[in-house]
Amino acid sequence: MSNTTQIEAILGDITKVTVDAIVNAANSSLLGGGGVDGAIHRAGGPVILEDCKKIIARQGGCKTGEAVITRAGNLPANYVIHTVGPVWNGGNKQEREKLANCYRNSLQLATDNNCKTIAFPNISTGIYHFPKDEAARIAVRTVADYVKKTYTLHKVLFVCFDEENYKLICSEIIHSSGN
Ligand code: ADP
Repeated sequence: MSNTTQIEAILGDITKVTVDAIVNAANSSLLGGGGVDGAIHRAGGPVILEDCKKIIARQGGCKTGEAVITRAGNLPANYVIHTVGPVWNGGNKQEREKLANCYRNSLQLATDNNCKTIAFPNISTGIYHFPKDEAARIAVRTVADYVKKTYTLHKVLFVCFDEENYKLICSEIIHSSGN
């Protein structure tokens, strides 16, 4: 048995994938929003918001770069990991570090909850306007670095909603596996 983690990409809708945990690109209020966040809450049903409200009561929300975990309601996944991506603000506001933290903290939370498979959307590349090429590089490199040190995850799946992100992520995966 090899202990390497598969890193893969598909073009599709993250609410439809069967993995242990899907990641949500949430906002710091955790109260739901548009984009992938809206899609996850709609498809998963009220249980997700119920759990988010408990987290809000406990810790007041979620800071940029951090992650929290809830049940997944009607989704095929078992958990939703909500992470708050940085809003792109020109690149001098630690946006890159914060985006890498989103991936690392989500992977750690998945590992802590015994997840073997996890799916990510392209965090911050929608309403938050992070440049897609840089976001793809940070996403794949951060995941590749993490799985080099932690062997418990079997698969990390990038679920891309548009062709451009899909192509960028695929080419980063090819680069990262080539060295
Ligand atoms: P952010 O505020 O972090 O930019 P968005 O939800 O606006 O979050 O966008 C993040 C990414 O998720 C974008 O690339 C967007 O196209 C994508 N996205 C939107 N809906 C879905 C979905 N159902 N499944 C997967 N990705 C999605």
